[in-house]
Amino acid sequence: MDTPVCSACKTREAFFYRPYSGERLCKKCFTLSVESKVRATINHYHMLGSAENLAVAVSGGKDSLTLLHILAKLKRFKPKTNITVVTVDEGIKGYRNEALEIAAENCKQLEIPHHIVSFKELYGFTLDEIICSARKKGQTELTACAYCGVLRRKAINTGARQVKATKVATGHTLDDEVQTVLMNIFRGDIARLSKEKPVTNEVHPMFVQKIKPLCEIPENESALYAYAKNIPFQDTPCPYASEALRNDIRGMLNRMEQKHVGTKFAVSRALERLRPALEETAKKEDFKTCTECGEPSAMDLCKACELLRHVQ
Ligand code: SF4
Ligand code: ZN
Ligand code: ZN
Repeated sequence: MDTPVCSACKTREAFFYRPYSGERLCKKCFTLSVESKVRATINHYHMLGSAENLAVAVSGGKDSLTLLHILAKLKRFKPKTNITVVTVDEGIKGYRNEALEIAAENCKQLEIPHHIVSFKELYGFTLDEIICSARKKGQTELTACAYCGVLRRKAINTGARQVKATKVATGHTLDDEVQTVLMNIFRGDIARLSKEKPVTNEVHPMFVQKIKPLCEIPENESALYAYAKNIPFQDTPCPYASEALRNDIRGMLNRMEQKHVGTKFAVSRALERLRPALEETAKKEDFKTCTECGEPSAMDLCKACELLRHVQ
Protein backbone atom coordinates (compact mmCIF):
# COMPACT_ATOMS: atom_id res chain seq x y z
CA MET A 1 0.00 0.00 0.00
CA ASP A 2 1.29 3.52 -0.85
CA THR A 3 2.20 5.75 2.09
CA PRO A 4 -0.22 8.70 2.15
CA VAL A 5 1.26 12.01 1.07
CA CYS A 6 0.63 15.33 2.88
CA SER A 7 -2.41 17.10 1.37
CA ALA A 8 -0.78 20.53 1.90
CA CYS A 9 2.77 20.25 0.52
CA LYS A 10 2.07 17.14 -1.63
CA THR A 11 5.65 15.98 -1.10
CA ARG A 12 6.29 14.79 2.45
CA GLU A 13 4.81 11.72 4.06
CA ALA A 14 1.62 12.38 6.07
CA PHE A 15 1.78 11.57 9.81
CA PHE A 16 -1.57 12.95 10.96
CA TYR A 17 -5.14 12.66 9.71
CA ARG A 18 -7.47 15.53 10.68
CA PRO A 19 -10.97 13.97 10.59
CA TYR A 20 -12.94 17.24 10.68
CA SER A 21 -11.21 18.64 7.58
CA GLY A 22 -10.23 15.45 5.78
CA GLU A 23 -6.58 16.62 5.54
CA ARG A 24 -3.56 14.36 5.90
CA LEU A 25 -0.60 16.39 7.05
CA CYS A 26 3.15 15.92 7.38
CA LYS A 27 4.83 17.03 10.61
CA LYS A 28 5.90 20.39 9.20
CA CYS A 29 2.56 21.30 7.63
CA PHE A 30 0.73 20.13 10.76
CA THR A 31 2.74 22.37 13.12
CA LEU A 32 2.45 25.30 10.71
CA SER A 33 -1.31 24.80 10.50
CA VAL A 34 -1.65 24.83 14.31
CA GLU A 35 0.43 28.02 14.52
CA SER A 36 -1.59 29.75 11.84
CA LYS A 37 -4.86 28.68 13.48
CA VAL A 38 -3.70 30.21 16.78
CA ARG A 39 -2.67 33.39 14.96
CA ALA A 40 -6.12 33.54 13.32
CA THR A 41 -7.85 33.08 16.71
CA ILE A 42 -5.74 35.88 18.23
CA ASN A 43 -6.67 38.20 15.36
CA HIS A 44 -10.32 37.19 15.24
CA TYR A 45 -10.90 37.96 18.93
CA HIS A 46 -8.48 40.94 19.00
CA MET A 47 -6.59 39.21 21.80
CA LEU A 48 -3.35 41.16 21.51
CA GLY A 49 -2.58 44.79 20.79
CA SER A 50 0.66 45.86 19.14
CA ALA A 51 2.43 46.32 22.51
CA GLU A 52 1.57 44.03 25.40
CA ASN A 53 3.20 42.89 28.58
CA LEU A 54 1.90 39.36 28.28
CA ALA A 55 1.89 36.85 31.12
CA VAL A 56 1.56 33.22 30.04
CA ALA A 57 0.20 30.85 32.67
CA VAL A 58 2.34 27.71 32.36
CA SER A 59 1.65 24.66 34.50
CA GLY A 60 4.25 22.40 32.91
CA GLY A 61 1.62 20.33 31.07
CA LYS A 62 1.40 19.92 27.28
CA ASP A 63 -1.26 22.57 26.55
CA SER A 64 0.33 25.48 28.40
CA LEU A 65 3.76 24.63 26.95
CA THR A 66 2.42 24.32 23.40
CA LEU A 67 0.85 27.75 23.94
CA LEU A 68 4.10 29.19 25.27
CA HIS A 69 6.18 27.93 22.33
CA ILE A 70 3.66 29.24 19.78
CA LEU A 71 3.43 32.65 21.48
CA ALA A 72 7.23 32.86 21.69
CA LYS A 73 7.31 32.28 17.93
CA LEU A 74 4.56 34.84 17.22
CA LYS A 75 6.40 37.38 19.37
CA ARG A 76 8.90 37.75 16.51
CA PHE A 77 6.17 39.60 14.62
CA LYS A 78 5.34 41.78 17.63
CA PRO A 79 8.63 43.25 18.80
CA LYS A 80 6.89 45.51 21.32
CA THR A 81 5.34 42.55 23.16
CA ASN A 82 7.08 41.13 26.23
CA ILE A 83 6.38 37.68 27.61
CA THR A 84 6.74 36.50 31.21
CA VAL A 85 5.78 33.01 32.33
CA VAL A 86 3.72 32.71 35.50
CA THR A 87 3.60 29.31 37.19
CA VAL A 88 1.47 28.53 40.21
CA ASP A 89 2.99 26.22 42.81
CA GLU A 90 -0.06 24.80 44.57
CA GLY A 91 2.10 22.67 46.84
CA ILE A 92 1.26 19.14 45.71
CA LYS A 93 3.93 16.81 47.00
CA GLY A 94 5.55 14.49 44.47
CA TYR A 95 3.85 16.21 41.52
CA ARG A 96 4.27 19.95 41.30
CA ASN A 97 8.07 19.99 41.73
CA GLU A 98 8.60 18.08 38.50
CA ALA A 99 6.21 20.44 36.67
CA LEU A 100 8.04 23.48 38.03
CA GLU A 101 11.36 22.12 36.78
CA ILE A 102 9.91 21.44 33.32
CA ALA A 103 8.37 24.93 33.16
CA ALA A 104 11.74 26.45 34.17
CA GLU A 105 13.59 24.34 31.57
CA ASN A 106 11.28 25.62 28.79
CA CYS A 107 11.66 29.24 29.96
CA LYS A 108 15.44 28.87 29.88
CA GLN A 109 15.35 27.40 26.38
CA LEU A 110 13.14 30.26 25.13
CA GLU A 111 14.94 32.93 27.19
CA ILE A 112 11.71 34.03 28.87
CA PRO A 113 11.58 35.23 32.51
CA HIS A 114 9.83 32.88 34.93
CA HIS A 115 7.74 34.05 37.87
CA ILE A 116 6.42 31.58 40.44
CA VAL A 117 3.52 32.26 42.80
CA SER A 118 2.89 29.73 45.54
CA PHE A 119 -0.22 28.93 47.56
CA LYS A 120 1.99 28.80 50.67
CA GLU A 121 3.14 32.38 50.17
CA LEU A 122 -0.24 33.73 49.10
CA TYR A 123 -2.55 31.85 51.41
CA GLY A 124 -0.27 30.51 54.15
CA PHE A 125 -1.02 26.87 53.24
CA THR A 126 -0.10 24.43 50.48
CA LEU A 127 -2.93 22.61 48.68
CA ASP A 128 -1.88 19.40 50.51
CA GLU A 129 -2.27 21.20 53.87
CA ILE A 130 -5.62 22.70 52.85
CA ILE A 131 -7.06 19.32 51.80
CA CYS A 132 -5.69 17.54 54.87
CA SER A 133 -7.12 20.16 57.22
CA ALA A 134 -10.50 20.35 55.43
CA ARG A 135 -10.85 16.55 55.61
CA LYS A 136 -9.93 16.53 59.31
CA LYS A 137 -12.70 19.05 59.91
CA GLY A 138 -15.17 16.76 58.16
CA GLN A 139 -15.42 18.88 55.02
CA THR A 140 -15.83 16.18 52.39
CA GLU A 141 -18.29 17.70 49.91
CA LEU A 142 -15.73 19.66 47.95
CA THR A 143 -13.09 17.90 45.86
CA ALA A 144 -9.44 18.97 45.90
CA CYS A 145 -10.00 20.41 42.40
CA ALA A 146 -12.79 22.64 43.71
CA TYR A 147 -10.35 24.25 46.18
CA CYS A 148 -7.49 24.24 43.71
CA GLY A 149 -9.49 25.76 40.84
CA VAL A 150 -10.66 28.79 42.85
CA LEU A 151 -7.32 29.40 44.57
CA ARG A 152 -5.32 28.93 41.38
CA ARG A 153 -7.46 31.36 39.39
CA LYS A 154 -6.82 33.98 42.03
CA ALA A 155 -3.08 33.11 42.16
CA ILE A 156 -2.71 33.46 38.37
CA ASN A 157 -4.37 36.87 38.51
CA THR A 158 -2.14 37.95 41.41
CA GLY A 159 0.99 36.62 39.64
CA ALA A 160 0.04 38.43 36.42
CA ARG A 161 -0.42 41.64 38.38
CA GLN A 162 2.93 41.17 40.12
CA VAL A 163 4.70 41.08 36.73
CA LYS A 164 2.63 44.08 35.59
CA ALA A 165 0.95 42.11 32.82
CA THR A 166 -1.55 43.79 30.53
CA LYS A 167 -3.04 40.38 29.57
CA VAL A 168 -2.68 36.82 30.79
CA ALA A 169 -2.84 33.90 28.34
CA THR A 170 -3.96 30.44 29.45
CA GLY A 171 -3.65 27.11 27.64
CA HIS A 172 -7.36 26.20 27.54
CA THR A 173 -8.04 24.13 24.43
CA LEU A 174 -11.24 23.59 22.44
CA ASP A 175 -11.89 20.48 24.57
CA ASP A 176 -11.55 22.41 27.87
CA GLU A 177 -13.87 25.11 26.61
CA VAL A 178 -16.56 22.72 25.36
CA GLN A 179 -16.37 20.60 28.53
CA THR A 180 -16.85 23.75 30.62
CA VAL A 181 -19.84 24.83 28.50
CA LEU A 182 -21.56 21.47 29.08
CA MET A 183 -20.62 21.41 32.78
CA ASN A 184 -22.27 24.80 33.26
CA ILE A 185 -25.36 23.64 31.35
CA PHE A 186 -25.57 20.44 33.42
CA ARG A 187 -25.29 22.53 36.59
CA GLY A 188 -27.81 25.08 35.26
CA ASP A 189 -25.29 27.88 35.84
CA ILE A 190 -26.17 30.40 33.12
CA ALA A 191 -24.19 33.22 34.74
CA ARG A 192 -20.95 31.23 34.46
CA LEU A 193 -21.87 29.96 31.02
CA SER A 194 -22.11 33.53 29.75
CA LYS A 195 -18.71 34.37 31.27
CA GLU A 196 -16.79 31.59 29.48
CA LYS A 197 -15.18 33.55 26.68
CA PRO A 198 -11.98 33.54 24.63
CA VAL A 199 -11.29 37.03 26.03
CA THR A 200 -12.74 37.85 29.44
CA ASN A 201 -14.56 41.10 30.11
CA GLU A 202 -12.72 43.78 32.05
CA VAL A 203 -15.00 43.90 35.05
CA HIS A 204 -12.68 45.17 37.78
CA PRO A 205 -9.44 47.16 37.67
CA MET A 206 -7.65 44.43 39.68
CA PHE A 207 -8.50 41.70 37.17
CA VAL A 208 -5.91 41.15 34.45
CA GLN A 209 -7.77 40.37 31.23
CA LYS A 210 -7.53 36.68 30.33
CA ILE A 211 -7.10 35.39 26.77
CA LYS A 212 -7.31 31.80 25.50
CA PRO A 213 -5.42 31.57 22.18
CA LEU A 214 -5.80 27.73 22.00
CA CYS A 215 -9.59 27.81 22.31
CA GLU A 216 -10.00 26.56 18.72
CA ILE A 217 -7.30 23.86 18.93
CA PRO A 218 -8.50 20.35 19.85
CA GLU A 219 -6.59 18.88 22.80
CA ASN A 220 -5.14 15.99 20.78
CA GLU A 221 -3.62 18.50 18.34
CA SER A 222 -2.12 20.53 21.16
CA ALA A 223 -0.50 17.33 22.51
CA LEU A 224 0.67 16.30 19.04
CA TYR A 225 2.22 19.75 18.51
CA ALA A 226 4.26 19.29 21.72
CA TYR A 227 5.41 15.82 20.54
CA ALA A 228 6.21 17.03 17.01
CA LYS A 229 8.28 19.92 18.37
CA ASN A 230 9.99 17.80 21.05
CA ILE A 231 8.76 20.13 23.77
CA PRO A 232 9.44 18.63 27.19
CA PHE A 233 6.24 18.48 29.29
CA GLN A 234 4.90 16.69 32.34
CA ASP A 235 2.52 13.87 31.53
CA THR A 236 2.01 12.27 34.93
CA PRO A 237 -1.48 13.10 36.19
CA CYS A 238 -2.08 15.10 39.35
CA PRO A 239 -2.71 12.76 42.32
CA TYR A 240 -5.91 14.69 43.12
CA ALA A 241 -7.32 14.57 39.55
CA SER A 242 -10.89 13.74 40.45
CA GLU A 243 -13.33 16.09 38.78
CA ALA A 244 -15.99 13.44 38.27
CA LEU A 245 -18.40 15.54 36.19
CA ARG A 246 -15.67 16.85 33.89
CA ASN A 247 -14.31 13.32 33.37
CA ASP A 248 -17.77 12.02 32.44
CA ILE A 249 -18.30 14.90 30.03
CA ARG A 250 -14.84 14.43 28.49
CA GLY A 251 -15.61 10.75 27.83
CA MET A 252 -19.03 11.56 26.39
CA LEU A 253 -17.69 14.32 24.11
CA ASN A 254 -14.87 12.13 22.83
CA ARG A 255 -17.33 9.37 22.00
CA MET A 256 -19.61 11.87 20.23
CA GLU A 257 -16.69 13.34 18.30
CA GLN A 258 -15.68 9.89 17.12
CA LYS A 259 -19.18 9.05 15.91
CA HIS A 260 -20.13 12.55 14.72
CA VAL A 261 -17.05 14.38 13.56
CA GLY A 262 -17.10 18.12 14.32
CA THR A 263 -19.28 17.91 17.47
CA LYS A 264 -16.82 19.91 19.61
CA PHE A 265 -16.57 22.74 17.08
CA ALA A 266 -20.37 22.73 16.73
CA VAL A 267 -20.87 23.22 20.51
CA SER A 268 -18.27 25.97 20.58
CA ARG A 269 -19.86 27.79 17.61
CA ALA A 270 -23.33 27.42 19.12
CA LEU A 271 -22.13 29.13 22.30
CA GLU A 272 -20.59 31.95 20.26
CA ARG A 273 -23.95 32.63 18.63
CA LEU A 274 -25.87 32.33 21.89
CA ARG A 275 -23.52 34.53 23.92
CA PRO A 276 -25.20 37.92 23.35
CA ALA A 277 -28.54 36.46 24.48
CA LEU A 278 -26.90 34.70 27.45
CA GLU A 279 -25.20 37.88 28.56
CA GLU A 280 -28.54 39.64 28.37
CA THR A 281 -30.21 36.90 30.46
CA ALA A 282 -27.49 36.57 33.11
CA LYS A 283 -27.72 39.30 35.68
CA LYS A 284 -24.97 41.87 35.24
CA GLU A 285 -22.71 41.26 38.19
CA ASP A 286 -21.29 44.27 39.94
CA PHE A 287 -17.90 43.34 41.29
CA LYS A 288 -17.18 44.42 44.86
CA THR A 289 -13.97 44.25 46.87
CA CYS A 290 -13.49 41.29 49.21
CA THR A 291 -13.63 42.51 52.82
CA GLU A 292 -10.88 40.07 53.82
CA CYS A 293 -8.23 40.16 51.08
CA GLY A 294 -9.15 43.25 49.03
CA GLU A 295 -9.39 41.31 45.75
CA PRO A 296 -12.35 41.62 43.35
CA SER A 297 -15.33 39.53 44.37
CA ALA A 298 -18.96 38.95 43.41
CA MET A 299 -19.90 38.75 47.12
CA ASP A 300 -18.64 40.61 50.20
CA LEU A 301 -16.24 37.71 50.82
CA CYS A 302 -14.45 36.24 47.80
CA LYS A 303 -14.70 32.52 47.05
CA ALA A 304 -11.00 31.96 47.89
CA CYS A 305 -11.35 33.52 51.36
CA GLU A 306 -14.57 31.57 51.91
CA LEU A 307 -12.81 28.28 51.11
CA LEU A 308 -9.78 29.18 53.22
CA ARG A 309 -12.08 29.47 56.24
CA HIS A 310 -12.36 25.68 56.03
CA VAL A 311 -8.75 25.40 57.16
CA GLN A 312 -8.56 28.14 59.74
FE1 SF4 B 1 -5.52 21.23 40.97
FE2 SF4 B 1 -7.29 19.27 40.44
FE3 SF4 B 1 -5.66 20.17 38.52
FE4 SF4 B 1 -4.67 18.72 40.56
S1 SF4 B 1 -6.14 18.01 38.97
S2 SF4 B 1 -3.77 20.59 39.71
S3 SF4 B 1 -5.96 19.43 42.24
S4 SF4 B 1 -7.29 21.33 39.56
ZN1 ZN C 1 3.29 18.80 4.18
ZN1 ZN D 1 -10.88 37.44 49.58
